[in-house]
Amino acid sequence: MNVAAGVSLRPYNTLGVAVRAQWFARLTAAAQIPSLLARFGGSPILVLGGGSNLVLTSEVPGLVLHNAIGGLELLAEDGDGVSLRVGAGENWDQLVARCTGQGWFGLENLSWIPGSVGAAPIQNIGAYGVELKDTLLAVHTVGIEDAEPHRFSAADCRLGYRDSIFKHEQQDRQIITAVDLRLHKRPHLQLEYGEIRQTAERWGHDLKRLTPSQVRQLIIRIRQEKLPDPALAPNVGSFFKNPVVDAAQYQCLRQREPELVAFAQADGRYKLAAGWLIDRLGWKGRRLGQARVHPQQALVLVNEGHGSDDVLRLAQQIQRDVKAAYGVALEVEPRIIRGSSRLD
Ligand SMILES: Cc1cc2nc3c(=O)[nH]c(=O)nc-3n(C[C@H](O)[C@H](O)[C@H](O)COP(=O)(O)OP(=O)(O)OC[C@H]3O[C@@H](n4cnc5c(N)ncnc54)[C@H](O)[C@@H]3O)c2cc1C
Repeated sequence: MNVAAGVSLRPYNTLGVAVRAQWFARLTAAAQIPSLLARFGGSPILVLGGGSNLVLTSEVPGLVLHNAIGGLELLAEDGDGVSLRVGAGENWDQLVARCTGQGWFGLENLSWIPGSVGAAPIQNIGAYGVELKDTLLAVHTVGIEDAEPHRFSAADCRLGYRDSIFKHEQQDRQIITAVDLRLHKRPHLQLEYGEIRQTAERWGHDLKRLTPSQVRQLIIRIRQEKLPDPALAPNVGSFFKNPVVDAAQYQCLRQREPELVAFAQADGRYKLAAGWLIDRLGWKGRRLGQARVHPQQALVLVNEGHGSDDVLRLAQQIQRDVKAAYGVALEVEPRIIRGSSRLD
């Protein structure tokens, strides 16, 4: 297997940060992992998918493993649905297109999310009222410490809002090689979230006859209208998670800001739209050095340079401002990779 030294990671991250990996290898099969671990065991290892949910800051020491493990296997099929095993290096949106086209439903609301299948469980990707956890059966890995295969059931993964065990005690300890999903043959359309219904009506669809393929197309169009293309405006999607506050804090904020956008949670708490808070404080379109807040999408920070210092400074200023104005702590969503010590 070819391991190259000093490879630029600029083409491998959607924020366009131009730093180098000390060592770089393209992983195409799980069977390659044990020999790599034998060679690089003890060095830091960073697994990279599409690089759409991380912020690189400086040269990455040790080995960067670009996951390109492909494959889609039909594990089981019955009258209700199918179980699939998908290689971690498959492109997420191509998987959604393929499954929707086959009549295997459940992923259509997660259309047009960049990145790889293997990264999807890391933050339990979610959009338009659906999360990976709704279809995930299991995650297959190879352990970095023992070079042995492991299986994490959906329950083992402890999936939460943009969260999983792979952001906590299993961070940097597992290389995800495949993901098992359970999809349905009969559609269960989720149209309640965001502007899906309104957009469908605006485009003349009959809501009662809407198909999963049409939902996918609607979502792609909504996302293309709302979100900047990283190829043109380098970004990592939402830079902050939507903060969740208790009912008392929500009521207090609501009195001050009657227009506040928030979503009631099953546990009685409220998820606040972080983009609304940032926009309200006048950040949309503002620039700091070579970073700026996207003029239409306050949650998205755009990098106009080849480093990430300005993006991180801008993020810190926004966090400070939101905390001072509303008493709400904004948590950064992408992972920040800082040289030898990786911090979130
Ligand atoms: C324009 C845009 C829109 C987006 N919209 C959404 C959205 O709607 N919803 C959403 O949830 N996210 C969204 N994202 C964020 C991102 O696309 C997802 O989090 C995606 O799952 C990241 O995949 P990736 O392959 O690019 O991961 P990477 O950025 O390569 O990696 C992310 C993290 O996962 C780890 N990792 C990746 N692959 C593996 C593996 N095989 N084994 C172990 N660790 C691994 C990395 O080390 C890193 O810590 C968006 C991003 C962009 C740029």
